[in-house]
Parts: sequence; structure tokens; C-alpha cells
Amino acid sequence: MPSYHAASPNADEFISHAEITDTLRCAQSVKQDTALVDAILEKAREAKGLSHREASVLLACEDPAKVGEIINLAFEIKQQFYGNRIVLFAPLYLSNYCINGCLYCPYHYTSDIPRTKLSQDEIRAETIALQNMGHKRLAREAGEDPVNNPIEYILESLDTIYSVKHKNGAIRRVNVNIAATTVENSRKLRDAGIGTYILFQETYDKAGYEHLHPRGPKSNYAYHTEAMDRAMRGDIDDVGLGVLFGLENYAYEFAGLLMHAEHLEAVFGVGPHTISVPRVKPAHGVDPGSFAGGISDALFEKIAACIRIAVPYTGMIVSTRESKSVRERLLRVGVSQVSGASRTSVGGYGNQSGEEDTRQFEVQDTRSLDEVIRWLIDAGYVPSFCTACYRAGRTGDRFMALCKSKQILNCCHPNALVTLKEYLVDYAAPQTREAGERLIEKEIGVIPRESVREWVRTNLVNIENGQRDFRL
Ligand code: SAM
Repeated sequence: MPSYHAASPNADEFISHAEITDTLRCAQSVKQDTALVDAILEKAREAKGLSHREASVLLACEDPAKVGEIINLAFEIKQQFYGNRIVLFAPLYLSNYCINGCLYCPYHYTSDIPRTKLSQDEIRAETIALQNMGHKRLAREAGEDPVNNPIEYILESLDTIYSVKHKNGAIRRVNVNIAATTVENSRKLRDAGIGTYILFQETYDKAGYEHLHPRGPKSNYAYHTEAMDRAMRGDIDDVGLGVLFGLENYAYEFAGLLMHAEHLEAVFGVGPHTISVPRVKPAHGVDPGSFAGGISDALFEKIAACIRIAVPYTGMIVSTRESKSVRERLLRVGVSQVSGASRTSVGGYGNQSGEEDTRQFEVQDTRSLDEVIRWLIDAGYVPSFCTACYRAGRTGDRFMALCKSKQILNCCHPNALVTLKEYLVDYAAPQTREAGERLIEKEIGVIPRESVREWVRTNLVNIENGQRDFRL
């Protein structure tokens, strides 16, 4: 039996309920103090981040002029650290077997959703379908079921995904969204070459958490909340946090998320690699309106902006759960990664006929990957398929050092252009290719060093000539 009920006393300390409630109370009491809000904004302009207490004041602030400043500052900070690159990925659902009872998820154990799990051959077929679109980076998803989805299945599936090389395609980075696990399993995942270990907290509010997770291993709040500590003790450098907004009080979640990031930074010397901002969506047997924490699009944008300001170096992810217009708003204020052409059903890429039956939730952005790429290019972003960092050892604090010193323009920007070129040559529709070529030509001028510009130009020519001898 997995040791998922092992005592884990620390969660209550680093996500202290008393500290969060006091933070929210203080934020409410000072939110109209313009001098204080201005002082916090002034500090935020240094782009070194804010504490959960400071950031919670900004989130509580309702003065439209100040909210406008928050949104604009988030945009500026994003430009400073991440520039106009947007990384693309797609989820790959392997299995919807699950023994948990999460009230917001159609995979919960009493659900009558048809259960299914991909064989290794089916994973191969899904991987080819994803490669044929142009994807290079995946987020591997599965329900929690130690019998049907044991760690051995997860590890084998990673090998399978990495082994598929179809035409010019390759999946070069697989991020893993796997349920809270042990240090030992974390190390196995690390050794299997995962990118980021992603696990959404869902909610930091312990009472709410226990209500929403009435059964199964995930019902243990402390074990779930301490999962990132175990992942890092298992030498996984890059971990991804997230809250499922729409369940509980957003201000509580926001403070909890930042306290979690502060905890990881304090204990391991490096904060989360990414923060995801999913919102609960309609799903089989799930009505988002039945939860108390629903938030408007405008508030969602403000939350994303406050996250960007509070943790300037952390990547931020928004999925196809959100519509094109909401994604546009979030991209502007801080999101650095988006999914494209996602299927949230098991086997949804190869065989789309059963898509309705097993999908986890409804996606609102149903565009093809090419449409997403074209949209990003037209909006002035550089779509990036780069996955070089973790293969070049730029993970954990090494990536953070690069990001904090604003050096990623020398590194990520050239790589983004080269991987975009790969996409344009191998997969793009003619008009996307034309728009992309124009963008690349313009963006080469932004790269600071002549030697790097030369490297980009050489590789662009190599790609045109069918040579792929770089490791991006
Ligand atoms: N078994 C893993 C775990 O327990 O974390 C992965 C869970 S699932 C495949 C990935 C995420 O989907 C969950 O963490 C949850 O936040 C999200 N999710 C579940 N139901 C959802 C819904 N109705 N709308 C939006 N997101 C949902």
C-alpha cells in the first residue's frame, strides 16, 4: 500500500489558516489607504516580488485607477522577465480511472463516466497525433488509481512518449500532473526525465478541501499540500503550483498560493517553476455554479496580474479551459504558457468520436494549434516550442538565476525563434508560415549579441534544408 496517510505535520505551518485570515482582514482594512497602496506598487516596480501580505492588499484594492495601475505594472513586469514569448503545450490524458471523490471532477469514484486507459500502443498513436500538429511539450494527465495507474504505468508511458519520433516530430519535454506521491516515486519520475511536476492544490482552505475531497488518498489535506516538498526532496527541481479557482474564496487561495511559493523558496532555495490558474468548468455531473467561489473574468484578470507582480520570475499557465478573449487578457498581464488544440478525453487526439464521453471538462478554446499560433503571431507574441532548459540542465535555481538576471533574452528568445521556424516549416498553414517568417525576421533584430544572431540565422537555414542538429 502506498504510504499516503503518513503523518505530515508541516502543511498547517506553512499554510497557516490564522496567518491567511489575518492577511485578508488586514488587506480589507487598508485597501483604501492610497499612500500604502502606492508604496506597495512602488516596491513592486523594483520587480523583485512582494510578500503574500503586500500582494493581498493589491488584490483587495478596488479603486479603478489603482486596478488599472496593477494591470499595467503586471504587463511591464512580464515584458521585463518573459518578453513576448509564449510557450505552447498540450495535455495528454492517459487514464480516467480514479479512486478519489473530488466533487468538482467527473472522474470521481461514483461517476458513471465510461472508464478507460490507454495501452502503450495507444499512447504511441496519441503521441504521433500530437506530433503531427507540431507539439513538442506535453502535460501528462491521469486520475489517481494505484491499481490501474500505478507508478510503473506512468514511467512506461513516459518512455513510450519520448521514444516516438514521427517524421520531424518529437516530444521533448513531458510535464507530469500526477497525484501527490512519495519521495521515492518523485525520484523515479525525475530519473525518467520529466519536465515539471505539476500538482494543483485545488484549494488551500483546509475545511473546504476536506469537504471537496471526501474520499480517497487525495482526501488527506496535509499529504496533498506537502507533495511539492516531497517532490523536491526527490530531486525534482521544477514544480508547478495551481489553484482551481471558482471553488472557494479567491483571496484565501491567492494568499495560500503565495505562502506556498514563499515556503518552497525558503526551504529549497527556489520557488515554483510555474503557477497554473485553472477555473472550474462544466463537466459530466459538475455544475460550476454549485460552488461558492465563482469569479468574474475581470477579477480573474486582476488575480493573474497580482500573481505576476508578486512572483515575477515564475511562469504562468492558462489552459484551453478559458476562451480566446479571456486568454488574451491573461496573456497581457502575465501568462507565459498556453495550451493549444487540447483534448481532455482519454484518447481524444487519435480518435475524436468518443471525445464527449470521457472528457474531463469542457474547453472553451477549441481552435486548432495552427489557429492558436497564428493568433499569437498576429497579437505580437512569439510562439515558442522550446524545451531546451531542462535538457541543458537549466532547471530549479539555475533557471531562476537566468530569469532574475533578465538573461533569457539571450537564451530563450533565440531558441523560441528557431523552434517557431521548425513549426512553420513542418506544420504551418501557408498564411501562418508567411506571418511567422515576417515575425522571425523582425525579432532577430531584438537579440542583443551578434554571435547569437548568427547562431539563429544558421539554424534557420539548417531547418529549411532539413537539418536538425540542435537540441531545443
Ligand atoms: N490525479 C491528479 C491529481 O489528483 O492532481 C491529476 C488530476 S486532473 C487530471 C488535473 C486537474 O484538473 C485537477 O487537479 C483539477 O484541478 C482539474 N479539474 C478537475 N475537474 C475540473 C473541472 N470540472 N473544471 C476544470 N478543471 C478541473
